[in-house]
Amino acid sequence: MSIFNDTEIAFQEKTTEQLRKAYWMFKTIEHPTVTNLGIKALNFTIHNNFPFVEGIVRKTLFEQFAGGETREKSTEVVNQLFKHHIGSIFDYAIEGKEDEATFDHTCEEIKQNIKFAEGNPAVPFVVFKPTGFGRLGIYREVQSGSELTTSEKEEWLRVVKRYSEVCRLAFEKNVIIMIDAEETWIQTAVDDLVNKMMAEFNKEKAIVWNTIQMYRTGRLEYMAEDLRRATEGNYFLGYKFVRGAYMEKERERAAEMKYPDPIQPNKQATDDNFNAAIDFVMQNMDRVSAFFGTHNEKSTELVMDRMREHSLPNDHDKIHFGQLYGMSDNITYFLGENKYNATKYLPYGPVKDVVPYLTRRAQENTSVAGQTGRELALIAKELKRRNSN
Ligand SMILES: Cc1cc2nc3c(=O)[nH]c(=O)nc-3n(C[C@H](O)[C@H](O)[C@H](O)COP(=O)(O)OP(=O)(O)OC[C@H]3O[C@@H](n4cnc5c(N)ncnc54)[C@H](O)[C@@H]3O)c2cc1C
Repeated sequence: MSIFNDTEIAFQEKTTEQLRKAYWMFKTIEHPTVTNLGIKALNFTIHNNFPFVEGIVRKTLFEQFAGGETREKSTEVVNQLFKHHIGSIFDYAIEGKEDEATFDHTCEEIKQNIKFAEGNPAVPFVVFKPTGFGRLGIYREVQSGSELTTSEKEEWLRVVKRYSEVCRLAFEKNVIIMIDAEETWIQTAVDDLVNKMMAEFNKEKAIVWNTIQMYRTGRLEYMAEDLRRATEGNYFLGYKFVRGAYMEKERERAAEMKYPDPIQPNKQATDDNFNAAIDFVMQNMDRVSAFFGTHNEKSTELVMDRMREHSLPNDHDKIHFGQLYGMSDNITYFLGENKYNATKYLPYGPVKDVVPYLTRRAQENTSVAGQTGRELALIAKELKRRNSN
């Protein structure tokens, strides 16, 4: 039996009414056809300002998966989580906007998050997405190595400046800044930039952290190379490890453009690769800090086992765990209860702008191999437990 089965702990902050609503919501998004049709209708209606739609989203998907419309409005959730030894990672979840004003605004928002996190144990990390700071197209151009036009060069310099400013502020405030990973066709450009930031700001400790997607092939080799560079340059490495969120897109593009599939051949290979990353961390703890971003119970248990084998205390400052808000509370609350460094990614932003993030969560939860079955079973178990009391 799983050690993460205690639903009383997992849902201690949820009222029965909230749980019933969550059950109903997960039940609805369980069906791919319903969800896909719903998402199409939602995107259309929300962008055309149909009355009531925003209110419905707010009361359903938004309430389940987001902290609030602003950082300040999300602090109630932050405080509630912190009571259970769970840190919050503000995730400014605006997606799909590609103009310079939005990139500048996002950069400013991340700086405010850093200031909010300074000396605040309830907010142990700040995060941003590469495409929050620049167009996907500009990263792609830089990565492809093709000659940039004058205006593209200026545009890229602005992207670099945003990274520099944010990483410098994080360094000055002693706040860890984590950069999400995205598609492989931009990730090399992101890795190169993050590496420069690590070399500059990680001399005393890991302040700038990159994300490594273990569903990719060749990432262990990449990390070995990173480690060699860091040893030579005498700086520290911080990694968030995830499996990876863009598998279908990656495979489609590789097939269409006839290059080798960059993703592991099957789920087992991804799992093995993720587990190998755990060993990499344990063997290189003098230089590497890690954050395991996963809803996978076995991987989480494996990290805990390895920590025990290496006699590391549960709250060792180089090992962290994270789940997304609204998902896998059974894992997060168990970790918090046992004083591991447990965290939640806490998305926030105006309802309308968070819709792409919310619909991705809904979609990810429909797939047969997805989360919904697990979430539904846990909620049902807790409702039953409460009914019989
Ligand atoms: C805190 C946190 C932060 C995250 N940040 C990022 C990020 O920056 N970038 C990012 O890309 N994702 C990110 N994710 C999402 C993550 O990559 C996964 O998509 C998601 O967590 C599901 O994987 P899992 O480890 O939780 O569990 P599981 O449910 O065990 O694994 C599902 C994952 O396995 C892989 N997989 C499934 N089928 C196959 C197959 N046939 N062949 C090969 N691989 C397969 C896929 O990656 C799939 O998402 C984050 C997740 C969390 C919890």
